[in-house]
Amino acid sequence: MAEAEEEMASLSLSAAPTRRRATCDDGCGRPKSVCICPFLPPSLLATSTSVVILQHPHELRYNRLATVPFLSRCLSQLQLLLGRRLRSGLSPLLDSLHSSPSSYCPVLFLFPSPNAVDLSEWAQRTPLEARTNPVLVLVDGTWNQAREMATGSLEFLSEFATFVSLGCEIGIEVESPCENNLLLKKEPHKGCLSTIEAVARALRILEPDNMGSLAEETLLKVLRAMVGFQAPFMKPMQPRPKLNKKKEKSVKGDSASV
Ligand SMILES: [Zn+2]
Repeated sequence: MAEAEEEMASLSLSAAPTRRRATCDDGCGRPKSVCICPFLPPSLLATSTSVVILQHPHELRYNRLATVPFLSRCLSQLQLLLGRRLRSGLSPLLDSLHSSPSSYCPVLFLFPSPNAVDLSEWAQRTPLEARTNPVLVLVDGTWNQAREMATGSLEFLSEFATFVSLGCEIGIEVESPCENNLLLKKEPHKGCLSTIEAVARALRILEPDNMGSLAEETLLKVLRAMVGFQAPFMKPMQPRPKLNKKKEKSVKGDSASV
């Protein structure tokens, strides 16, 4: 969920100020050696799900290599908002659903919380006609920022949104590209997904026919590419047993995943 700072080689190598490396100016804007363009879809995927992501202002300013901007190169129904909390006046789409909720456009706020409903269960028990054009809402920032953003947005969202989360075992059918200690972000505990992966998993559940698996695979392809570029420069993250135990205790009762 939270999109923490990515420790890419491009940043660490940029310490050498004398030579400016070539960048993919017409495409992804990244250094050409880690260009993500070949992994992007040839055209935007027109999903029936509208995805709305609230980005923390710091995330946009300081995390130049975040994955969320690449979502806009993959999905046509995507809205990126900037702010610390969702409220009236930020998104015309959310405003219209807030003032007149529609049973045909359910608003789903995806964030781990004890009160959130498992998204798969929600989809199974909701008739198809009542979930044809869902609006999926997420917050994006570091884990602490995301928590604050979610808390700050509760007042607005609780009036018209359903709170959902993804189960830890969601990756059984499709192996998470972030497994094997290749973490793109610093996550508070195992099972917490990056924003792009959370969107991928959710679309697989929400989208009808083949679009679900197509959207999921498209987004995971981008994520895998980024993890692949990053892998040689990342140390394996192996929490010490003691810390692990302590962490398990501290997150007890908290939902493990988005
Ligand atoms: Zn590129």
